[in-house]
Amino acid sequence: MTGRVFDASLYRHDRVEPSYWEATVERPAAPRLAGDETAEVAIVGAGFTGLSCALHLARDHGIEAVVLDAGAPGWGASGRNGGLVCIPPAKASIPQMIRRWGREETAGFYRWAIAGCDMARDLPAAEGFDVRAQGDGNLEVADHPARLAGLVENARQLNDLVGVPVRILDRAGFAAIGHGGTEQFGGVHIGAGFALHPLAYALGLLRAARRRGARIYGDSPVVRWEREGGGHRLVTAGGASVRVRHVVVATNGWTPDSLHPAFDARMLPAISNILVTRPLTAGELAAESWHTETGVVNARSLLFYYRLLPDRRLLFGARGDTAGSPDAAARTQAWMERRLGELFPSWAGIEVEYRWRGLVAMSRKLTPSIGSLDDDPGVHYALGYHAAGVAAAPMAGRTLADRIALGDAAPAVPAVLRGLPPRFAVSALRRLALAGAYLWYGAGDRWQELRHRATG
Ligand SMILES: Cc1cc2nc3c(=O)[nH]c(=O)nc-3n(C[C@H](O)[C@H](O)[C@H](O)COP(=O)(O)OP(=O)(O)OC[C@H]3O[C@@H](n4cnc5c(N)ncnc54)[C@H](O)[C@@H]3O)c2cc1C
Repeated sequence: MTGRVFDASLYRHDRVEPSYWEATVERPAAPRLAGDETAEVAIVGAGFTGLSCALHLARDHGIEAVVLDAGAPGWGASGRNGGLVCIPPAKASIPQMIRRWGREETAGFYRWAIAGCDMARDLPAAEGFDVRAQGDGNLEVADHPARLAGLVENARQLNDLVGVPVRILDRAGFAAIGHGGTEQFGGVHIGAGFALHPLAYALGLLRAARRRGARIYGDSPVVRWEREGGGHRLVTAGGASVRVRHVVVATNGWTPDSLHPAFDARMLPAISNILVTRPLTAGELAAESWHTETGVVNARSLLFYYRLLPDRRLLFGARGDTAGSPDAAARTQAWMERRLGELFPSWAGIEVEYRWRGLVAMSRKLTPSIGSLDDDPGVHYALGYHAAGVAAAPMAGRTLADRIALGDAAPAVPAVLRGLPPRFAVSALRRLALAGAYLWYGAGDRWQELRHRATG
């Protein structure tokens, strides 16, 4: 399967990414698809979207799906993200969404996203597995005094739209409940979501789906998609296949351009990187006024996200380079280590014990895309969570399960989510588009830094 946007090293399905998450869970075996199977539904991609779809199909509708992943289940972003259960899964602002889809549909989208946050707590409890929940809501921090007003405005719009509780914090208020450091000028607390162990969430969904009859296979990349009568036949690299009536595309940032023509050049994958330090001592945390287990996102255009893990390590994430080669990754990670020390000076040079990266999926629509193809209603998709899929992707899997099982009787999908995004005009130039966007946003961030140095 072709259509890779980045260096081949980001597409190695033969091994899992050596992350802190992989080091702290036990994986169940996931055999390769062998022989030819039939089912009502096949799901391509065993991340949050695909596994949740399989669980909800089986549990709520008695439909036993076959799930295929090119790597191990949870191999993609679902097993390697920051674990911040947060909203919104979009790059469009609330005013932009209201202009495009109206206030009711925008509120419906936010309610759907908040339900995804609630599901991340309630579903593991109902299914009897532990996602190692931490914190309460999410913090957004102004990395520069001029950015606080924007954060406050967004928080007020969110509260006004759907009543999410928000707290406005000045620098001292933020230091009292969050942290200090050189890029903390106040912020907001958003009362939705929390933080969790993402791979524990993905594998919990897997076990629950299997218990109810879903058949989940790893090491089974779909390399050919054939129409057969009124149905579909998906052929994997090993030659084994599945015949089904419905196919769900749940491949997000790893959507290959040659899987099905309807999905070519719809997604703009971007690299996100994570570092995890050694455990910090109580004294080291106190030196940066660190008080919280709640996830933090800063307001830079090319943002940092971070959180304290249960064993007191700092997880520190940032958007990556636009090449994807191991050398470029090493340069980005070295830059992140330097910036971590600039944000929290007493931690400069702290030992980093884990480094990894993965792909998020952006799109020209700036909001996720959920639906079925107009000319082939047996093909369903949920993609494009704009780097915020921990709450949204499992929710999207459930939304698709309801649509497949109930058709028009399923709960309506908010208009903000419906339909595929426009394609990128020249697929091969997507990496350049990303580089251009990074230059633009990076220049904005640097301009703020220079202004800050000049004025403060
Ligand atoms: C480093 C990083 C940090 C992040 N941090 C956060 C965060 O803190 N909070 C948040 O909300 N979101 C975060 N995200 C985003 C979030 O992880 C994703 O939005 C979410 O996991 C998407 O889930 P998914 O199931 O749709 O896709 P994925 O989990 O990416 O799964 C897609 C799967 O499709 C499979 N696949 C592709 N092609 C084929 C094929 N031909 N045949 C079979 N299988 C195929 C892949 O192997 C892959 O496993 C982060 C992402 C990354 C990479």
